[in-house]
Amino acid sequence: MSLSIKTPLLESLPLSQLNGTKVLMKMEAAQPSGSFKIRGIGYACEQHVARGAHRFISSSGGNAGLAVAYAGRRLNVPVVVVVPETTSERARHLLRLEGAEVIVHGASWAEANELALSLKTARDAFLHPFDDPLVWHGHSSMIDEVVVEGVRPDAVILSVGGGGLLAGVDEGLRRNGLDGVPIYAAETEGMASFHAALKAGGPVELPALTGVATTLGARQVCQRAFDLAQKRPVVSVLVSDREAVESCKAFLDDHRTLVEPACGASLALLYGRKIAVGSLQNVLVIVCGGSTATVDSLNSLRG
Ligand SMILES: *Cc1c(COP(=O)(O)O)cnc(C)c1O
Repeated sequence: MSLSIKTPLLESLPLSQLNGTKVLMKMEAAQPSGSFKIRGIGYACEQHVARGAHRFISSSGGNAGLAVAYAGRRLNVPVVVVVPETTSERARHLLRLEGAEVIVHGASWAEANELALSLKTARDAFLHPFDDPLVWHGHSSMIDEVVVEGVRPDAVILSVGGGGLLAGVDEGLRRNGLDGVPIYAAETEGMASFHAALKAGGPVELPALTGVATTLGARQVCQRAFDLAQKRPVVSVLVSDREAVESCKAFLDDHRTLVEPACGASLALLYGRKIAVGSLQNVLVIVCGGSTATVDSLNSLRG
């Protein structure tokens, strides 16, 4: 059994034409939790249940928390999500809709996370949103699905928050003999923790996180994200908030799917023609999705 679904792999004619190559989209926005997160978190949750976990604990008010809540509902395991007061009403509502117990605590994520960790007993599993080999392994299945469809991408575009998606895609590419394929890693300027790690020669903590792509707001990327970039070509590309938001809107018109600015950052590489891919055969973009965006929120984001 798998909690994630096999998502569509679609060709984008508008993005292909704009970039002079074939652009294929892995439509992770179609996952039941609204993002790719259910691949890795769903896999981790199943492993924890097999080892006897009786409850899942998370401190994510975003797509990772939603994936834990979805997994708990499907596996019949109670879920507690501790979120800070800054978490939107919509996010709290979506978590409760999945049946999770939502505890609002603290002014910052650090305070919420501290309480979440203190609640954990020996019978509970704590789900980290990105720094966990189980999560990376679960994410890697999206590349197997692409290869099974007969596509061998010669470049992959994805967004980086804490680097879990990057680590999972790297694992999937390596498993399929695609070791040398470059990955374009998109971040918004105010959430550029991967960019900072490459510059500093290792993961470093950003002094501040700014901007609309809150889902990309990990202060520091995981060590694995940095390490894998020493072994394969990974190109860091930054976009503005405005470019990310405008790309979400263009994507909604072109492909009738609403995604978060976190995902818009990847799409902006193609809508903004920020990378030279015209000589490639198959460019794969991970449409990572996201559940916290609404049409109203996109319209109100000024970027
Ligand atoms: C979690 C998430 C990301 C970033 O993934 P990391 O594993 O933290 O790098 C990007 N986009 C969406 C929609 C997400 O939910």
